Amino acid sequence: MRKAVIQEDWDGTQDSEIFDSVDWKARKRVRQSEMRSLWLCKQEIGINRTRRNNARIMKTSDDKCPNCEQHNEDSKHLNICPDAGRSRQHREGATKLRRWMFKSRSKTKPTMARVIHDYIRLRNATTMEELARRGSPELIEAARMQDRIGWFELMHGKLAIQLVRIQEWYCLINNEGLNGKSWSTNMVKQLLDMSHSQWLYRNFSLHHQTLGYLHRLVEETNLRDTARELASLKPEEIPNSSQYLLEIDIESEEQSFTSVSYWVLAMKVALKEKTIGLTKNQKQKRRDAIYGRNWTPIMTSQAAARTGKRDHSSMVAAPILPNPKCLGVGMKGNFKRWTQQEITKYTGGNINKPSQQQKNKNSCKLIIYNADITSRTNKRQRRNNE
Ligand SMILES: [Zn+2]
Repeated sequence: MRKAVIQEDWDGTQDSEIFDSVDWKARKRVRQSEMRSLWLCKQEIGINRTRRNNARIMKTSDDKCPNCEQHNEDSKHLNICPDAGRSRQHREGATKLRRWMFKSRSKTKPTMARVIHDYIRLRNATTMEELARRGSPELIEAARMQDRIGWFELMHGKLAIQLVRIQEWYCLINNEGLNGKSWSTNMVKQLLDMSHSQWLYRNFSLHHQTLGYLHRLVEETNLRDTARELASLKPEEIPNSSQYLLEIDIESEEQSFTSVSYWVLAMKVALKEKTIGLTKNQKQKRRDAIYGRNWTPIMTSQAAARTGKRDHSSMVAAPILPNPKCLGVGMKGNFKRWTQQEITKYTGGNINKPSQQQKNKNSCKLIIYNADITSRTNKRQRRNNE
């Protein structure tokens, strides 16, 4: 009954001879977790969540492989994806299998080991029978049967029982403590590991939070929206030197993600340039109002490189304008805060006591001596000398 069900699910064209030629016992002996067994069942009958199945369920048009971006990604695409990373992973898996087959503990018949390795590494590019044409008749017959089972099914752990028998004979003759049973179990396990590692790689590529295909899809949608907004700007809103950017038809679907990214970046730089230009003009206007129209900060390149700041040594000093409220231009340090009663002003050697009106006016004000007025001590000395 179980055989009939599997046979029916497998493929209607497969006859019972092919079904019986698979080493099902080796498949059964491989220990797997429940989730991985579930994945394998779905993978074999083609109902796992590939992009093709996802597009059908979610009713979307995107059925691209997350790695090579080929359309119609189905379960068979898993082990033949031409993406560089996926191909490298497959080659590494094949190399690991080859190393295992030539190990002393799992010594495989050399002719058969080379044929199996090449058949797996070439990813269904040729038949096993073609690769085994220089081998023994038993090997050619076993290779023919493996071809009938199929390369894709081999990667799902469906190993031809004739290949296992050849290895059993080889183990018996060489008597190295290995039997065909453990060999076939390990072989199937490694084939399943190779397929499952491809599935994991594919899922990481699809769902990664920052580098995944789905995340990039959202990013691309946002980027194209931004590009559409920027493309609707008026020419006078960006600098003259960047207005040619508006001539590019960036909303076209033919524009790649990279092209749109560079275009958006260039537009943002142009807008920033415009903003900086406006700010500079405002600052210059303020400086013109304070220092005069010809004021320009000169920054020497050496000083800028050394200090990382502007060199203000060559700036023109701000003109000192007379303050009409000051009583006179005083010398630095030669001033006092006078109280109302002590206000005295020296002018030309005559001491004039301020009137009450002047006292009221000077209340709480800073009074500054004239610079050319000699001090009281000098005057006394001059008077004594006379
Ligand atoms: Zn692909």
